[in-house]
Amino acid sequence: MPLYLVATPIGNLSDISERAKAVLSSAHVLAAEDTRSARRLLSALNIPLEGRDLLAYGDHNEKGMAPHLAEKLKKGLDVAVLSEGGTPLVSDPGYRLVQEAIAAGVAVVPVPGPCAAVAALSASGLPVHAFLFRGFLPKKPGARRRILEALKDREETLIFYESPQRIGKVLPELAEIFGADRPACIARELTKIHETFHRGTLGALAQTFTLANAPKGECTVLIQGASSREDDDEPDELES
Ligand code: SAM
Repeated sequence: MPLYLVATPIGNLSDISERAKAVLSSAHVLAAEDTRSARRLLSALNIPLEGRDLLAYGDHNEKGMAPHLAEKLKKGLDVAVLSEGGTPLVSDPGYRLVQEAIAAGVAVVPVPGPCAAVAALSASGLPVHAFLFRGFLPKKPGARRRILEALKDREETLIFYESPQRIGKVLPELAEIFGADRPACIARELTKIHETFHRGTLGALAQTFTLANAPKGECTVLIQGASSREDDDEPDELES
């Protein structure tokens, strides 16, 4: 009767884990943000549904579906949540269901695996010892600016998800608020054939990626923290 949170590939099918395959093969109920892409994934992995439920579970119906799935868990069924790619709940649906499961005394079991934020961070070249993941920025300029202003003095490496169409719009704001010389990285098409890390200052990246020259494919944006330096991890030198 556990609730499994199954991480799935963000581009490269080989990133699926053995454990994820086992859970997706055995869970009584699968709950997916996008049932069509879930079917494609199951078929690519040769995992038959064999009469098991594959239910749509996303922002649009989470309020009704979370209690419905919690009832199934309470009846002793295993439920596995998967998102279109990556780790459920990380800028993806699932939070409400996890709350329901905890309240019902049901075990919540992560099946870890791909996550764009962590993959991007590890190869960005930016400090990794402390980071702040902020997901998608608000679409409304006022709300976005308020959040960015609140983040500009944070020392952690900042991680955002952003659609490629909006990168050209957001980069000049980032350069203005955080400073054009702030080191940053755009991790594009992670784990796919055209995986690229665009490393540079926010000013340089804003000049490269404009509204007319949007990056292609999925992007994760990382920005070095305010006074973060590579040697922050080094022990302090002894004063003589
Ligand atoms: N839950 C997912 C995870 O664990 O990474 C994130 C889902 S969120 C709806 C999708 C966003 O993640 C994209 O808009 C993009 O910012 C980022 N993303 C997903 N796949 C990516 C990839 N292959 N390369 C770069 N960024 C990616």
